[in-house]
Amino acid sequence: MIRTFLNSESLMQSHGYDSKEHLGAVKCPLYQTSTFAFKSAEEGKSFFELAYGLREPKPGEEQKMIYSRLNHPNLDLIEKRLAALEKCDDAAFFASGMAAISAVMFAWLSPGDLLLYGAPVYGGTDHLINHVLPLYGINIVRFTANDSLDAIIKRVEEHYPGKTPSVIFIEVPGNPVNSLIDIEMCSLMAEKYDKLGKRPVLVVDNTFLGPVYQKPLEKGADISLYSATKFIGGHSDLIAGACAGSFEKIAELKHLRTFFGSTLDSHTCWLVSRSLETLHIRVKQQVENAIKVSRFLKNEPKIQRVYYPGLLEDDHPQREIYNRQCLSPGSMIAFEIKGGEEEAFRFLNNLQLFKIAVSLGSTESLAEHPATMTHVDVAHDDRVLYGITDQLIRLSIGLENSDDLINDIRQALERAIPD
Ligand SMILES: *Cc1c(COP(=O)(O)O)cnc(C)c1O
Repeated sequence: MIRTFLNSESLMQSHGYDSKEHLGAVKCPLYQTSTFAFKSAEEGKSFFELAYGLREPKPGEEQKMIYSRLNHPNLDLIEKRLAALEKCDDAAFFASGMAAISAVMFAWLSPGDLLLYGAPVYGGTDHLINHVLPLYGINIVRFTANDSLDAIIKRVEEHYPGKTPSVIFIEVPGNPVNSLIDIEMCSLMAEKYDKLGKRPVLVVDNTFLGPVYQKPLEKGADISLYSATKFIGGHSDLIAGACAGSFEKIAELKHLRTFFGSTLDSHTCWLVSRSLETLHIRVKQQVENAIKVSRFLKNEPKIQRVYYPGLLEDDHPQREIYNRQCLSPGSMIAFEIKGGEEEAFRFLNNLQLFKIAVSLGSTESLAEHPATMTHVDVAHDDRVLYGITDQLIRLSIGLENSDDLINDIRQALERAIPD
């Protein structure tokens, strides 16, 4: 039953689920099973033919359940719901965000190919790109939010004359300083390369603002990608990843997922379906809290600099991208405390309500030190380029009362830098 005329909040309670098909269960039951019985050998043959692309689906025919590494009802439900949120054909969930990112890289890059990526990215993605992909003969070119379209194309041509990137991978807002790469500019770049003979696949890691507050597919991206561990999961109780896009592209990723064995298990899918029901209301409140926290940080003399899209001045070059691309400033804030690692650590160690932990996007607020934690593996010079200093602290704002969060930051700052 497709009811796409409903708004997203409603779709997250109802889309893709018919209780009549599940003994009247109001919530989709947890299908804790590895395999599914066929009614007959002929049926098994027919399901496999479809799964392996040996025949075209009949009109309206969906892939039936075979084996839980390929598909299962809890997976099917959350894929339909994410596709409904992204207003696209299909979605694929993976065992982690990194599994989704690896699938994208291995699906569309072959030895000798070129990957063009926008930095900074999540620490794990940075490691995959700079330390793993080169082992498979992948060439890498990097750009940042400060580079123009022409400058990027020129750099590619200088390093790899005549070569077209196979994949353009960006993360926006970028981890950890909320840098904004222009998705539409990247889409234009993909079109330019298309005219030269080959369209690169444009992949956007949409973990920080999506799927509610940023819509990369509407801006010309091919894949909107997630660490669903973060806002989509939203309760710091699961690890998952996802990609959304066209039938064709998602089919390629699902094919790889089957053979890499990185399908998301039924219990975690069940938790994700629970989480999607409250996604809108959670992120809305988290943003409201984050705006209040950011205003406090901005006026705090012990803080040198705050990175939060909501605080971009009107004349800042990123402001225009923000206005076009982001539907909200989000709930990730990075800031530099005055001093260095010592002050930053003293601040973190004195927090009482915030927990010192990596990860983000959950109901509880978290604080971490990117230079020694999430981004410790990024080369030193690159850290400097990205603004990941020893003074930098990253906050993920949760659902506590914003006054309590501000009071916690205030007292930790007083202890970190006594008057
Ligand atoms: C956490 C994160 C990832 C990796 O996701 P996992 O679920 O931990 O594998 C990728 N990108 C971003 C932006 C992240 O925050």
